[in-house]
Formats: sequence, C-alpha cells, structure tokens
Amino acid sequence: MNQENRPDKHDPASVGTSTWAVHGGNRIDEGSGAIRTPLVMANSYRLPEDPAAMNWSATDQPLYTRNGGANQAGLERKLAAMEGGEAAAVFATGVAALHGVFFTLLKSGDHVVVSDVTYEAVWRLFAQLLPQRYGIEATFVDVGDLAAVRAAVRPNTKIIHVETIANPTTKVADIRGVAQIAHDAGALFTVDGTFTPPPLYQPLADGADLVIHSLTKYINGHGDAMGGAVIGDSCLIDRIRHDALVDVGGVISPFNAWLIMRGSVTLPLRLRQHLATAEVVAQYLQSDPRIAYVYYPGLATHPQHDLAVKQFAGRGFGAMMAFAVKGDADTQNRFVANLRVITSAVSLGHDESLIVHVGPDARGGSENYPPEFLQYGHLRFSIGLEDAEDLIADLRAALDRTEFSG
Ligand SMILES: *Cc1c(COP(=O)(O)O)cnc(C)c1O
Repeated sequence: MNQENRPDKHDPASVGTSTWAVHGGNRIDEGSGAIRTPLVMANSYRLPEDPAAMNWSATDQPLYTRNGGANQAGLERKLAAMEGGEAAAVFATGVAALHGVFFTLLKSGDHVVVSDVTYEAVWRLFAQLLPQRYGIEATFVDVGDLAAVRAAVRPNTKIIHVETIANPTTKVADIRGVAQIAHDAGALFTVDGTFTPPPLYQPLADGADLVIHSLTKYINGHGDAMGGAVIGDSCLIDRIRHDALVDVGGVISPFNAWLIMRGSVTLPLRLRQHLATAEVVAQYLQSDPRIAYVYYPGLATHPQHDLAVKQFAGRGFGAMMAFAVKGDADTQNRFVANLRVITSAVSLGHDESLIVHVGPDARGGSENYPPEFLQYGHLRFSIGLEDAEDLIADLRAALDRTEFSG
C-alpha cells in the first residue's frame, strides 16, 4: 500500500463504514489518557480571561452545553461521515431534530410537499400545528407517484419531505426522482432515513439536502436512549444549530450522546443480522395462510419492490414490516398476547423484536394507508437480533394458539 491509500481511523475518507463506526468521533482523553472519549457531564465550560466580547451563541468553542459539548461533538462527527455529509447536529429526540429542520427553514406563507405516509408526529406538524400556528401550508402526496409530486409543487414550495421507507406502511420513496423535482423547483429535499440507516442507504448521495434520523432506533440500537440527528452541508447545519438548538433548546444530554456513540459502534454489524433475519421472517409470514397481508419492501409483492432493489442496491430492505392476521381487532390482540419472544411495545430498531397493534384509524393520516391496513389495522413489526428460527417459531406458536374471529 502506498502512502496515499493508507487507512487512518481518524480520516473517514480512508476507511470503510465498519472501521469508521468503531473509531469515528472518538478521541483519546488527554487528561487521563483514556482511549475512549469520557462522559463529560457539565453544563458549562471554563471561559477565557476576558469573556466580555464573546459571542454567546457560538457553537464552535466550549461554552454551555446547549451550544455543544464533547460527547455531542464526537457523535456529530461520527454521524456526518457515516451519512457522507459535511456536518451533523444532534438533538434530544428524532422529533426534535425534525422540528428543528422545519422551524429553521420555513416561515409563514411557505409551502411544503410531504409524503402522505409519515411518522405520526410529522403528519401532525404539517396537518395541524405548523399551518394553524405559523401559517405554513402543506400538501400530502403519494411519493410513489412522481407526477403527483411534481403537480403538488407551488411557487412557494420550500421543502419536500419524505421517509426512505415510510413508518408504518413501508412505502418506499424514489429519492433520486423526488430530489430532481425538489431541485427543479428550488426547494430543499429533506429525507427521514430512520428505517434505512447507513451503511444500508445514504440519501445525500442520491440528492437529499438533509437527512434526519431518530437515533433512538437503529443507530443506538439498544432501546435505552433517545436522540435525533440532522446531517447535511455545514451552512444548513449551522443555521439549524443556531436557531433550533441554541435558541429553542432541544439538546441531547451528554449521557445519551455517550450511550448512542457506544451503541452505534456495532451498527453495521447489527444491521447485517437485522436485514438477513427480516427477509426470512417476511417470507415465513407471507407463506402462512392465517396472515392477511405482509408489507415488506423485500417481498416481490411489495408495490415498490423494484424501486427498493434498485435504490438500496442489493444491500437490503430494512427490518421493518407491517402485517395483520386474518381477524378482527380482538384477534390481533390475542395473537400478540400469545407471543413469548417478541415484545409488545412501541419503538423499533432495538436489539429485541418489537410489535405494536395499531387500529385502522388510530393514527393521523391513516386514510392514506393501503386498503388492507384500513380493513384489518396493522401490526408494526421491528425485527430484532434474536435467532430467526426463534422468531418464526414464536409467530407460528402464537398463531396456533389464537382463536380466530371476525
Ligand atoms: C421514531 C421515529 C421518529 C421520531 O423519533 P423519536 O426519537 O421517537 O423522537 C421519526 N421518524 C421515524 C421514521 C421514526 O420511526
């Protein structure tokens, strides 16, 4: 190997994703010599001798933990490079990160085009809160239909927002196609990549301007901390940091940043298992006649399967699926109550498999879900790291014990 292509764990451009996931953003602590960045629990930092002329909104020097801190900065450096972006800003939750993007980049009179299937908080922000409080207009469109997306754009459209794979129906957005429409219109394209973390998919490379993650999910991966992140060009991230972190304040605690930093070390390794198990479990569910439907982008029956194959370039289809058993709401609940490995709880992307039963009209925007979802409701299923055989045996045993009605 010559000098130029020698890998360096401090230079993300010179190493692979797994190497960067281990080393990215970590620094030796000069004080103690510890080889992992210590947890820095302090809300303020030593000031210079003459602080009178300091910029109190500065985010580039240690000052106050709302402006930044050692654990946040390390996590930001790691996440930025994992997504192939210049910079990142981390927040207390995924929703705080999403709100931080919309709060910073929109003003009253602006218009947003948003996918008709999104995380519920995003639906409520654009269907109710931002229009009612700030006069921001939104049009919900089927992002599987590029002509509809183009038709929804107006002269005052400032943002198009989609999820790579949508929560909960698993609708796949055509990132390159929508990016083209957004940029033709002079709008920013913001993409929630929570269901497809890197190295599975990097939306910035396909034309997204900002990628948003709920770190609570796969990136932390252990179900013990909440966090959010926005990744993109430095100038956009700086604006978001100044407006939404320093002056609105949804900052992550250093402890949660430290936990997520630790959890993310194994992200590429965990993803391989999540993705492989999801494909087998989805095949099993689809083959069982007691199951009414399965939505998983890796199944040939999924409406955007071909797009998913092309877009995720054979790396996988995520590990989230939605399905229902043939029966009424009580039948879905009885089935879930019969599970002995899979846990009934919200959230996703954890080490343990999680399932949640959602009624047909329990979520805002659910009128846009596929007809099967409206008929049966759905079970949102997050495939964990357990043995695939155990998950399939658990599902089969629970079905065997369920009395079907409705
Ligand atoms: C969970 C989730 C969020 C919100 O993240 P929190 O960390 O719970 O605030 C946003 N988008 C998607 C797709 C999610 O699944």
